[in-house]
Amino acid sequence: MSTVTTMRHHPVAIVGAGLGGLTLARVLSAHGVEAAVFDLDASPAARTQGGMLDIHEDTGQRALRAAGLHEEFRALVLPGGEAVRVLDKDAVVRHAEADDGTGGRPEVDRGALRDLLLGSLPGGTVRWGAKVTGARALGGGRHEVALADGTAFTTDLLVGADGAWSRIRPLLSAARPAYTGVSFVEADLPEADARHPVSAEVVGGGLLFALGPGRGFLAHREPDGSLHVYAALRVAEDWVDGVDFTDVEAAKAYVLEHFTGWDKSLRALVADAPGPLTPRLIHALPVGHRWERVPGVTLLGDAAHLMSPFAGEGANLAMLDGAELGRALVAHPGERETALAAYEEGLFPRSAAAADASAANGTALFAEDAPQAVVDLFTAHP
Ligand SMILES: Cc1cc2nc3c(=O)[nH]c(=O)nc-3n(C[C@H](O)[C@H](O)[C@H](O)COP(=O)(O)OP(=O)(O)OC[C@H]3O[C@@H](n4cnc5c(N)ncnc54)[C@H](O)[C@@H]3O)c2cc1C
Repeated sequence: MSTVTTMRHHPVAIVGAGLGGLTLARVLSAHGVEAAVFDLDASPAARTQGGMLDIHEDTGQRALRAAGLHEEFRALVLPGGEAVRVLDKDAVVRHAEADDGTGGRPEVDRGALRDLLLGSLPGGTVRWGAKVTGARALGGGRHEVALADGTAFTTDLLVGADGAWSRIRPLLSAARPAYTGVSFVEADLPEADARHPVSAEVVGGGLLFALGPGRGFLAHREPDGSLHVYAALRVAEDWVDGVDFTDVEAAKAYVLEHFTGWDKSLRALVADAPGPLTPRLIHALPVGHRWERVPGVTLLGDAAHLMSPFAGEGANLAMLDGAELGRALVAHPGERETALAAYEEGLFPRSAAAADASAANGTALFAEDAPQAVVDLFTAHP
């Protein structure tokens, strides 16, 4: 007797349960359109989401309004988190802005924001532990998507929301992210007020930029009272291979070599971290990355326009992309290609402008006269 297995079919399949993919799923579900979301993480708690995000009025907040979640989002905002300090290597304050509660870029914890989106979806929308290994066109805009567990499904609309190293992007574009020339090393200082009062003061209530030529410390206060620190360096791509980062003391010395002569209060942001230190290479897709329309598939967020983090726009744009794609699909029921073309018509110029700004900010942050260019930027656009 022969057995016939029928492949599962999902009318709409979103690969990636990051902020972008979840915003799309939420906007669709709010309009009665069911989407299946696939994520390689074993569960929502598999990875700490980490870090603060400032959610911009014209991008991330617009998306949260479209998702009907703006009010819930306001409850997550860290009071005082919009304060900014720009210091030079001697810890002299060159620019400071207080948070008076009226700014358009409130800070929230990334994990809390993701939980808000997840909690807004019908149970079972996200298939956890579902790693996509590839996809192929079946004709007529349909795709077959393969999973690491050996199963596969078909879909009429495939959305790659799977971040920097997207498995869906090759269906649309041959572009690959390239190293930007900047590496970060991340560190955390827990219970900063009690255990690291000097560092707590140097960072302030929000965001710190302490900058010199080709290097700097970027840091912010988290809602739990810890400080999250990025030591940023213009170095070769293989610089991170020069030390064993699991040896915390060796890694600290390796990083701090680049900050010789810097004020002790700034060096302490790394020197006093209990560890571990986490290296992170910053990659980006080419500014202006785009593709020709391919039936039945599109990209959003980092999969579409991975950029350096220096405009603070990546997560904001991922959410706006999700909201805009959802809106286009709802506005053109049964006209998938019209909806995708309308979405991409907005996507390409929007992301090109942000990627361009981010690259320019990266140049300004670590310029030879740092932090002057950043002081000038903040003075021009407080
Ligand atoms: C150090 C740093 C600081 C940043 N700071 C900011 C900031 O302050 N503000 C800001 O707006 N942006 C910031 N960004 C950028 C921001 O993190 C990203 O732009 C944003 O997370 C992109 O969201 P996304 O949904 O497109 O992708 P992601 O958040 O990367 O989500 C992709 C999802 O897809 C899943 N996935 C990946 N591959 C597969 C697969 N093969 N199969 C199934 N699932 C898969 C992943 O598990 C993940 O859940 C920063 C980035 C960095 C590196």
